[in-house]
Amino acid sequence: DSFLSMNLSRPLLKAITSMGFQKPTPIQSATIPVALLGKDVVGNAVTGSGKTAAFMIPMLERLLYRDKGKKAAATRCLVLLPTRELAVQCYEVGKKLASHTDVQLCLLVGGLSLKTQEAALRARPDIVLATPGRLIDHIRNSPGFTLDAIDILVLDEADRMLSEGFHEELTEIIKSCPKSRQTMLFSATMTDSVDELIKMSLNKPVRLFV
Ligand code: AMP
Repeated sequence: DSFLSMNLSRPLLKAITSMGFQKPTPIQSATIPVALLGKDVVGNAVTGSGKTAAFMIPMLERLLYRDKGKKAAATRCLVLLPTRELAVQCYEVGKKLASHTDVQLCLLVGGLSLKTQEAALRARPDIVLATPGRLIDHIRNSPGFTLDAIDILVLDEADRMLSEGFHEELTEIIKSCPKSRQTMLFSATMTDSVDELIKMSLNKPVRLFV
């Protein structure tokens, strides 16, 4: 089992090496090959398992090498997380993994200035990482920002997003994304409400339990 056998591009492999990752963690071995095929995935993975890279690596690989013409026209990847802290951590991992590419990431969380974030959105970042509440603010108030071009959606720590009370926001956001997209959902626990969210937002997901 190795990152080399996953057919990843050089800029990504370089970043993975400089982050000190020698071999994939179990959730990465399970997720990356399936996600690279464009399939929807559900993973029950906790923080510490390496799940951030498990979705960021295939997301970056697909963003860089699929439909390149679309690039820069609009935001194509959206990652939703339950808290500001988790969003910041994911942003840091994403920036490191993208460091040898021209992919632009944008963080939308409470506590940062709305004006600064609006300006960042006008530059049409490829990837937006956000908490659901702050994303809704921007959909309503940032001129020209839409989810019309999202082709990869990640719902991270889905159980926590639901327990933080983001059910309505999640529903509105998911409905604003195109139907034909790839969706990856991660959750530490599989509750009835997580199952409902899976039914609403994923299409024939591959279930990865590691
Ligand atoms: P996460 O579960 O995504 O929060 O990651 C937990 C920690 O594992 C982070 O500090 C990562 O940098 C680290 N990590 C992720 N993937 C690997 C890997 N393949 N090899 C070594 N460390 C890793």
